[in-house]
Parts: sequence; C-alpha cells; structure tokens
Amino acid sequence: MLNKQLDLLVALQDLDIMIKDIEDVKALGFDVDGRQKLQGARDEIVKKLNKPLLSRYNLLKKRYKRPIVPVKDDVCLGCFMRIPTSLFTRGRSDKEVLTCEGCGRILYWYD
Ligand SMILES: [Zn+2]
Repeated sequence: MLNKQLDLLVALQDLDIMIKDIEDVKALGFDVDGRQKLQGARDEIVKKLNKPLLSRYNLLKKRYKRPIVPVKDDVCLGCFMRIPTSLFTRGRSDKEVLTCEGCGRILYWYD
C-alpha cells in the first residue's frame, strides 16, 4: 500500500519535472504542446495520494527540484550521505516512507 504511494509520488515528481521543462521552454518564446495532458495526469495522481505525504512532497519541492531520491548502495543519491543500517532495514520493508537524515529528501528504494 505504502509502496504504491511511493510509486505514485515518484510518478508525480517525473510529471512535475516535465511540466517545469515545458514551462522553461515556453518562457523562451517557443510554443510547446502537452502541458494540458501532463497536468491532467498530475491531477489524477494527486487524487490518489494521501494528503500528509502530498504536503510533505510539496514542502520539499520548494527546496529541491527532486524531492524524492533513490537509494543506491546504501547511499542517498540526493546528498550522497550513507544511510544508517537501521533506517535501511525499515525503508526496505515498504511499511513507511523515510526521509534522509542528511538532506531531508524522501527516500526511494528500488531493485
Ligand atoms: Zn540525502
């Protein structure tokens, strides 16, 4: 269940980055399609996300372009801090959403 929420959150982040890119290109004076489509998909995801998680994401988004970062080889790919083993075990269990103690980003484990 929570794992699923995290998947949605990662998808939301991808969409937000794409939307931002389109806006950046538009700001340069180019006409770009697809903004509406992306926004529609984004709305669908937001509906499915639980509210506390969403507000956490929105808060982090003010600080980082990518508020959710993968963990690889026990290291947060946001700030490259090593994740303590205790945290690692909990994050792996998919029962809770964990944040990096170094940078505060939401951590995402994948195989
Ligand atoms: Zn970090």
